[in-house]
Amino acid sequence: MGAEWAVAKARAQAVGAEWVADKAQAVADVVWAKAVVVVAASALAMVAAVDAVVEVEAAAVGASRSRSQSIRVTIASGKGGTGKTTVAANLAYTLAQNGAEVHFVDCDVEEPNGYIFLKPDIERTRTVGILTPKVDRELCTGCGKCGEICQYGAIVVVKKTVLTFPTLCNGCGGCALVCPEDAITEIPREIGVIEEGMAGKVRFSQGVLNVGEARAVPIIRELTRKPLGKTVIFDAPPGTSCPVVESVRSSDYTVLVTEPTPFGLNDLELAVGMMRELKKPFAVVINRADTGDDRVKDYCAEQGIQVPLEIPDSREIAEAYSRGELIAEAVPGYSEGLMKLHEFISQELQR
Ligand code: SF4
Ligand code: SF4
Repeated sequence: MGAEWAVAKARAQAVGAEWVADKAQAVADVVWAKAVVVVAASALAMVAAVDAVVEVEAAAVGASRSRSQSIRVTIASGKGGTGKTTVAANLAYTLAQNGAEVHFVDCDVEEPNGYIFLKPDIERTRTVGILTPKVDRELCTGCGKCGEICQYGAIVVVKKTVLTFPTLCNGCGGCALVCPEDAITEIPREIGVIEEGMAGKVRFSQGVLNVGEARAVPIIRELTRKPLGKTVIFDAPPGTSCPVVESVRSSDYTVLVTEPTPFGLNDLELAVGMMRELKKPFAVVINRADTGDDRVKDYCAEQGIQVPLEIPDSREIAEAYSRGELIAEAVPGYSEGLMKLHEFISQELQR
């Protein structure tokens, strides 16, 4: 396994230790699980492999420590339309207005809309790509090992002919690692962009996934890798799928925004299940709290989940929202609740 780990280590240096530590581990797990013997593992190679793992993991711990100097908060919701982005954008704005150094990061890469409220000046755009396999048919023997290891159906071997489906590929590199003929090279493929700039006092970043692309995680991973500022607000995609997990994984605290309806409760339960699986601290904000019924509040009380903020339904808020305005600017008193929410999160993180 020495060769695989050497590749993983080089990538760790190139693109960030924590991500590659996960990725290298995932690849290694798959390789071991499928008992694909790529290189005869001599004692020396195993020592090198262990050293590489320790080195990669140590770098990941270091990255995590330096990150802990800032507060990273993810605003998420089990479903769309609960007011998640409204809370995220207004929280970022309010904290910046009160002197904090804030970075708003829109991780909802399939439909980023924080810009509607924050109205940033975009200063830089950079592309995000992943490495996908290219097969040299002259070298390929049709052995099928690449198809066996791919967990995403992105490379399959039919009657000794290799077919690739780039949009399904997550760039793990497993197929290239196991190919006994070195017939696979990894070539970069653009999947989207990251746009960065300033929205008044708020540093702003958003990811935009190319139309037709299925893999949002690599862009979110890139977005969450190096945010700037003492306070970082991640606006997560709605739901509980991999892109949301990726957004939550990188943060210190998560706020689940919900509404007091049966649908809101159902999706909140799913989101709470996700948070408990991830073993990450979280609280709930109830939006339009004076509509619907009490089932969300009852559920939170039963489950011991804290609700530090309830936002009332208000015509003023709805009108400001429909005009694409920041509620904290348009509605007096709105920002006070958000400041209390931030205070609550800071206290929770110090406990
Ligand atoms: S592992 Fe390599 S040699 Fe085997 S089928 Fe895939 S590309 Fe061809
Ligand atoms: S095709 Fe893509 S996802 Fe599948 S093993 Fe290769 S790099 Fe990984």
